[in-house]
Amino acid sequence: MELHERDERRAAAEAVLDDLASAGVVGVVLPWVDTSGITRMKSVPLARLPSAAQWGAGMSPVFDGFLVDDSIVAGTHAGSAIGDLRLHPDLSGLRVLAAQDGWAWAPVDRYTQDGAPHVQCSRSLLRRLVGELAEEGLSVRAAIEVEWALGEGAGPAGSDPRTFRPALAGPAYGMTRHIEVSDYARDLLEALDAQGVAVDQFHPEYAAGQLEVSVGAQDPVAAADTSLLVRTTIQAVSIAHGLRASFSPKVTADGVGNGGHVHLSLWRGTENLMNGGPGTFGLTEDGEGFTAGLLAHLPALLAVGCPSVASYLRLVPSHWAGAYAVWGLENREAAVRFVTGPSGNRQAAANVEVKCVDGAANPYLLLAGLLAAGQAGLRAGCVLPDPVAIDPGTLTEEGRREAGIVALPTSLEEAVTAFERDDVLLTAFGPEVATTIAEVRRGEITLFEGTSPEELTAAVRWRY
Ligand code: GLU
Ligand code: MG
Repeated sequence: MELHERDERRAAAEAVLDDLASAGVVGVVLPWVDTSGITRMKSVPLARLPSAAQWGAGMSPVFDGFLVDDSIVAGTHAGSAIGDLRLHPDLSGLRVLAAQDGWAWAPVDRYTQDGAPHVQCSRSLLRRLVGELAEEGLSVRAAIEVEWALGEGAGPAGSDPRTFRPALAGPAYGMTRHIEVSDYARDLLEALDAQGVAVDQFHPEYAAGQLEVSVGAQDPVAAADTSLLVRTTIQAVSIAHGLRASFSPKVTADGVGNGGHVHLSLWRGTENLMNGGPGTFGLTEDGEGFTAGLLAHLPALLAVGCPSVASYLRLVPSHWAGAYAVWGLENREAAVRFVTGPSGNRQAAANVEVKCVDGAANPYLLLAGLLAAGQAGLRAGCVLPDPVAIDPGTLTEEGRREAGIVALPTSLEEAVTAFERDDVLLTAFGPEVATTIAEVRRGEITLFEGTSPEELTAAVRWRY
């Protein structure tokens, strides 16, 4: 970052101070997501925003090595208590938080003190990969669905965090559940709207106390920012209602978990390459290559998209989580679900939904990995296998073998091993990020060794 850029950043912050003050803003939250998938933050009083924009707010690089329980891995490139990084708010993402009175929020990029992007800044990494696609005349539109379970009595103090008491009793997708949650959901939709989040849908999901919000597609960096903002808002509205939201992949040992499905479409200019081509379901050649790349790299991508030991309690067959490395049209048991959209609107709507990934994922790392995998498939002109139109879990093992259907990794260890062998992802992430991902995952594997599903789900329930 050159000195003149620092000056421009300061001037941009100074220009918004009056508006923020009139909106009652007292402080600005500077959030980012660590390797384990936890959103960490610092904040500055409003008057310090210009200084934070220009010089950044200090935060140690030690957090790259943090695990889900706040213990720290002694990593090759992370986990040291020495040094300092600067959090620079990206003011294009600045929002007044509607559910946290007096606060604004701006996503940050992490820089060194010398003004170079921090090599492990996942937001900068994603922006770099978006730029690489742009050099080939391509862009991606992305959206991350947010599922969460709403719990009672799980506040920070006083209650027993080991029990989960769903805040809602009504049936899955049920009107009764919606009525129970009516005021809460109104406050949530109002807050998201005030923050400029384009909500597509809200509904009660399948699991106990589970709800879902989906949002419109955006540029990948903005989509990851939105996912952070949506989750922050959901937690703030939940706490204001005396409740608590869990985005953990598996909130209780039994039942269905929380997914964090990612919708992606690939574009050349104004042309959606997921539609209008000669391929299956209207895929263009490039759209097929991109989708085939996603599918081929899924086992390794799970180290990023299903980053918790608990992720593998969720990623099981016949739970709509997409536990098999297959693709299919509107198949909710396929890891990659192809969505054409209604006829007449396909040029705008066609996309692929990566279903296997969950709410513990760092959205910047995950989108970076998906872009790298898709781009590799496109460059190599990969072709897709036949789509799958059944739930592979209903076949016998032999039936799956005959159909060439393979399960995704069933443990974090298996996913990390696949990741360490995946040259495309290792190259895209670079040695520092890739090594840290593997070390943090192995740290969590050790942390939860021998833990029962009940203990594991309780341990991570209120962390994500
Ligand atoms: N909750 C499911 C999951 O674990 C997904 C349900 C759905 O298809 O929306 O991903
Ligand atoms: Mg859902």
